Amino acid sequence: MARPPSASAATFRRAALDALALLLPVSCAGCGTPDRAVCDGCRGALHPHPTLVSRDDLSAWAALEYVGVAARTIGAFKDGARTDAAAPLAAALAAAVRAALEGCAPGVEVCTVPSTPAAMRRRGYSPVDLLLARCGIRSSRVLRLTRARIDQAGLGVDGRRANAAGALEAHRDLAGRRFLLVDDVLTTGATLAEASRAIGVARGSVVGFAVLAETPRRYPRDIRTPDRRLRDNATHGSYGGMTGVVEPPFRSG
Ligand SMILES: [Zn+2]
Repeated sequence: MARPPSASAATFRRAALDALALLLPVSCAGCGTPDRAVCDGCRGALHPHPTLVSRDDLSAWAALEYVGVAARTIGAFKDGARTDAAAPLAAALAAAVRAALEGCAPGVEVCTVPSTPAAMRRRGYSPVDLLLARCGIRSSRVLRLTRARIDQAGLGVDGRRANAAGALEAHRDLAGRRFLLVDDVLTTGATLAEASRAIGVARGSVVGFAVLAETPRRYPRDIRTPDRRLRDNATHGSYGGMTGVVEPPFRSG
């Protein structure tokens, strides 16, 4: 067991981080305060509370709610090039993965949804794969896109479902293989449902779903105000517009 750091060690660590912040000025990805990549207050807000949430007949373990500090930090990490904010998000995602795998027989593979080529070019990394790698979890890349999908931003529930339908397929036969599907933000569940369908078609089985954050239930209320939602998304780190396959957020204010 690791011993908790002594008061003097914590003080030294804080002083060292402050000195580093002077050399490399950054603002907190969660609140914008000139500080470290993620300030202590925001780290607290990113402490995971894995919860089983549902969308239609899909149930997923979500570590965080996609609001406030979590929404801003995830947006900055995904679309603001703030990969320096990965540590607390990786810890949160790992907690959701652990919760989802509890009670599962060993041998379950973690599988993520591929980013669109446009999103990969823009970011230079796959956000979910990067977070998993930070926790030492390797994802099996068994899915690929069958066609270009338009951005989910501005689409209602039915539009998202139609846009997601048939967008993924497995590279190969997956008979006998079991998967946990992992994604960053759960909105309507259309993306995960499509990934699950594609694995099933290839004769694989899906034992569960885990996500970093879920959008709270009020999402459907916003369907008739796509303009407003897009504008609000822009103020939350342009999350939806940069995403492609993963579902965009709703307004959190
Ligand atoms: Zn902060």
